[in-house]
Amino acid sequence: MVVLIVVVVVACLLLALIPRYIAMRGRTEAPPKREPRPSPLAPTGPAATSTGEAPARIGDRIAKTRERLAGAVRNLRARSTLDGTVWDELEEALLSADVGVGTTTALLDGLRERVTDGTIEGPDDLIDALKAEVEARLAGDRSLATSADGTTVWLFVGVNGVGKTTTIGKLAKREVDAGKRVVLAAGDTFRAAAGEQLGIWAERTGADVVQGQAGGDPSSVVFDAVQRAAARGADLVLADTAGRIHTKSNLMEELRKVRRVADRDPGEVTEVLLVLDATTGQNGLIQARQFTEAVDVTGVVLTKLDGSARGGIVVAIQDDLGIPVKLVGLGEQAEDLIVFDPHEFVDALFDG
Ligand code: GDP
Repeated sequence: MVVLIVVVVVACLLLALIPRYIAMRGRTEAPPKREPRPSPLAPTGPAATSTGEAPARIGDRIAKTRERLAGAVRNLRARSTLDGTVWDELEEALLSADVGVGTTTALLDGLRERVTDGTIEGPDDLIDALKAEVEARLAGDRSLATSADGTTVWLFVGVNGVGKTTTIGKLAKREVDAGKRVVLAAGDTFRAAAGEQLGIWAERTGADVVQGQAGGDPSSVVFDAVQRAAARGADLVLADTAGRIHTKSNLMEELRKVRRVADRDPGEVTEVLLVLDATTGQNGLIQARQFTEAVDVTGVVLTKLDGSARGGIVVAIQDDLGIPVKLVGLGEQAEDLIVFDPHEFVDALFDG
């Protein structure tokens, strides 16, 4: 009898303890590892594959610009009605993110009309409409064109320090990873370190590089690079140019010449990419106008968006110049160059 009682008590104790034991194991066991998911913004390759780093995501890197808009968006969502002060708050926020006076005014005028005629009814509607409007203004073709029968040349222009050489290195990595044979042309013969920097990127990425003499003629460097690419059956020449020479008119004249020479058979310039530094905000637009007058710019690469509180400049660039922002730089590493995606950008900016 005593034995029976002991067996029953032990069985009851075990039944009570087993669920607790299972619960404890569940807490102490490490959660299953998740496979990293590729970013929808992943370019067709920068160094992600070589460094093992995931490609940069725009939403993780534009915190500084978002801060300038987030307060206004939060206040707006918390309102029950849309009164006159809404417009002042939105205007201030958009201007502080460097969307620019012209674009901000046009955006808000359109929205105000829709509030008046009743098609926008409340704060959430207004934010949705603002996002849709900004995204619509950012529409454009972001592909990078290649030559059908010649040697493709992509020319990079922009003032000193904006990130031309770094962008070329990042793109070289992406294109080499995609299976292309790439030649870099060190056309910035004015800045001594530029050629050296490009040499390092060439080594790192497996691209070929053509260097010139310090102070030499950049056109002849680009010409030689095209010849070498054609002779070796390479697909693409990425040509660096100077951002500063003795005078500005000389620089623009020089760029025109580089472009003419690069376009000589078998070369074909299919992209002229203007590199702009996002931290300079509206000043970048003044530079942009000068470059677009000198050479036919086909797209903008906006660098340093990661360190800028003025990311709204993306909207101003496209609105003012009518040139699409094709690529954005989000850091100094090879994987930190991504194809610009307006939808993801707008979401990250207003809701991030
Ligand atoms: P260049 O004179 O136009 O050729 O400019 P460089 O390529 O030499 O770049 C100037 C500086 O900007 C370097 O220190 C780069 O590492 C840095 N840089 C370039 N792109 C980016 C970017 O997207 N983000 C950040 N944070 N730094 C960048």
